[in-house]
Amino acid sequence: MVSIKDVHKSFGPVEVLRGISMDVMKGEVVCIIGPSGSGKSTLIRCINALNDIQSGSITVEGQEVHDPKLDKLALRKKVGMVFQQYNLFPHKTALQNVMMAPIKVLKQNRADVEVRARALLKKVRLEGKEDSYPGELSGGQQQRVAIARSLAMNPDVMLFDEVTAALDPETVKEVLVTIKDLAADGMTCILVTHEMGFAREIADRVYFTDKGVIVEYGPPATFFEQAKDPRTRQFLSQIL
Ligand code: ATP
Ligand code: MG
Repeated sequence: MVSIKDVHKSFGPVEVLRGISMDVMKGEVVCIIGPSGSGKSTLIRCINALNDIQSGSITVEGQEVHDPKLDKLALRKKVGMVFQQYNLFPHKTALQNVMMAPIKVLKQNRADVEVRARALLKKVRLEGKEDSYPGELSGGQQQRVAIARSLAMNPDVMLFDEVTAALDPETVKEVLVTIKDLAADGMTCILVTHEMGFAREIADRVYFTDKGVIVEYGPPATFFEQAKDPRTRQFLSQIL
């Protein structure tokens, strides 16, 4: 589904990704953890071509993401992304936020889009909030609207970059439950997260990045209990 091979990425003279490789199969959930500045967000942004790369390759369903001829719009339909900042349109309701891209970008029929948008809001457990404006919703509720908005494009894979980092502790859980629901439905997910308990529970594999390389990865049970590399162990000892 997503295949990353020996990716190098620099910002000016600074090499931020130094040979990253990772394969994610359909329906898999992988979590990326690592210290601040290790390149997690940069990697995620390379997957949907928000960042370019200097060498290596990233394919999504066999299509090279960094092929200059690739239709970026087509790629972004396949790859949904949710960030820490949800950036909903403040003057549109939850329902309108979810409906916007399928109507404007995919030119889908409004009535069909509305049926689907309502179903998606239900799926993220926001039934009854369709007509609320972002300002009337909690952070966790807004983030779930953002997830529904991304799902409205019917992506093959979802990227989540620290989507709970800006939330109050009480609302973190409801967003994690939403992601768990998605994973249980078979959505392929790549998540950057600081929620170790969540990573342990949900991930098929956990990747630890440091200074632009993958230091170590493995299934959560092995990863969290029997990390081999001293850098991984040190990181885990600070946060667990
Ligand atoms: P955090 O956990 O704090 O979110 P991260 O692992 O996501 O960190 P990145 O945001 O990927 O880290 O940043 C990796 C490095 O790349 C950092 O040193 C950062 O300063 C640098 N960097 C990121 N974006 C840019 C940019 N647009 N221009 C220049 N340098 C950048
Ligand atoms: Mg980041």
